[in-house]
Amino acid sequence: MATSKIISALPSGFTATPVIIECSSSTGLSAFTIVGMANKTIDESRERIRFALKNSGFKFPCDHLTVNLAPASLQKTGSYLDLPIAVAIIAHSGQILPQAKDIAFVGELALDGKIRPIRGILNIVESLARRKIKRLIIPAKNYHQAALSATNIKLVPVNTLRELWQYLAQDIEPPIPQANVVNNTETDRMLTLDHIIGQYQAKRAIIIAVAGRHNILMSGPPGTGKTMLASAIPNLLPTPDAKEIIEITKLHSLIDDTQKVYTYRPFRAPHHSASRAALLGGANGLPGEIALAHKGVLYLDELPEFNRDFLEALRQPLEQKTITIARANQNVTYPADFMLVATMNPCPCGNFGSEDQECSCSPNELHNYQRKLSGPLLDRFDMRITVPKPETSVLVKSTTTSTHQHASAKKQIEVALNKQFKRQHKTNAELSSYETIQFCQLSPDARIELERITTKHKLSARSYFKLIKVSRTIADLDNSSIIEINHISEASQLHI
Ligand SMILES: [Zn+2]
Repeated sequence: MATSKIISALPSGFTATPVIIECSSSTGLSAFTIVGMANKTIDESRERIRFALKNSGFKFPCDHLTVNLAPASLQKTGSYLDLPIAVAIIAHSGQILPQAKDIAFVGELALDGKIRPIRGILNIVESLARRKIKRLIIPAKNYHQAALSATNIKLVPVNTLRELWQYLAQDIEPPIPQANVVNNTETDRMLTLDHIIGQYQAKRAIIIAVAGRHNILMSGPPGTGKTMLASAIPNLLPTPDAKEIIEITKLHSLIDDTQKVYTYRPFRAPHHSASRAALLGGANGLPGEIALAHKGVLYLDELPEFNRDFLEALRQPLEQKTITIARANQNVTYPADFMLVATMNPCPCGNFGSEDQECSCSPNELHNYQRKLSGPLLDRFDMRITVPKPETSVLVKSTTTSTHQHASAKKQIEVALNKQFKRQHKTNAELSSYETIQFCQLSPDARIELERITTKHKLSARSYFKLIKVSRTIADLDNSSIIEINHISEASQLHI
């Protein structure tokens, strides 16, 4: 019998690598071997494939079967190749003939012949479409994620090996799975500004931060609602567009969920004790928290408690909006364009500067705590605010009927961001020093005030430009094309 050849692909970083599966047989003792840099996880496929084929009514050949996975230089992991290997075997034994060059297969098999969803389906769809594959057989449960970027490629969603056989042998199209309606309820469950009582100044600061995409550091004693304020941010940002939905879903489908379409912005809040791999991405090349925050918010509660190495490693994504994970054979780069929101206590005990409670920290402890945050890291924050203890201990309302601050803030933010893209094709936070001079026009009074503040607080050049950029955002929220004195004054309260 001739060798059968089946096309598939394996996710690799933010893309996928095509794999060719060849099946041959020779006479001799009945055996089933998989070769071509297959690791232990692929080895386990053999049993799944054997049972799935038998339980779906196919004959498992009694010959000495050899399946070769090419290219041999690529390490094959996971269960992605179950389905294509099974197809290679039944094609080789003449039970179906899917020999067209422009068809590919991916999916994991269950023992009963069901086809299970896989991680990273968008990587595979995009990569195979670029290689002129015209039809891709995928697990039905992956369909809605896969359909997000299925241009120039036909997706054939299948639930079982039987359904696949009917499609290939009898031309019976499998049904398109129903849309998953759970998707959009996520944003309804997210916190809004209307849920938070009081803290008007902090809410105003949050609105300004989001309107210019400024990274913000909130300092204050525990129990002031800093985490709640931060959690409201993804919901204040404009709803993601189609391209952003694809990028968010693509990243999360590698880790979290193989079926969901992410129509909302992520909010990632890793604990400071999380491992380096969980935060930055692991040796397996999968994205960590930094990449998973892409197009959303990375929230670092108690910033000084994070490992210094990690805080230094944040500089690359903050500057380049990507994160590179070093691996033994090849580096992997993911997009990592997020808004950084962090909090810190004023001191280790949390009471420093409080009017009603005494700080129990020694001068040494205070000094060490402040020193943990290096100057270059603090420089990443355009805004640094203090969140005081609220007058009431009740911070969260159960209903949101009394105010509509959140909805109006969201609208204002959208208008302000649109102004920025129209004026300079980027957010205010992204302006370079040169662009800040070019795009941020100050009134004569505002300029005098800026000089006064700069001299009084001995601002560094970096701080000086940050102050102008935050003022520019306040002016955008105020619908003013020129930065006025009140914009500068308000910005100076939010930075120094
Ligand atoms: Zn203290």
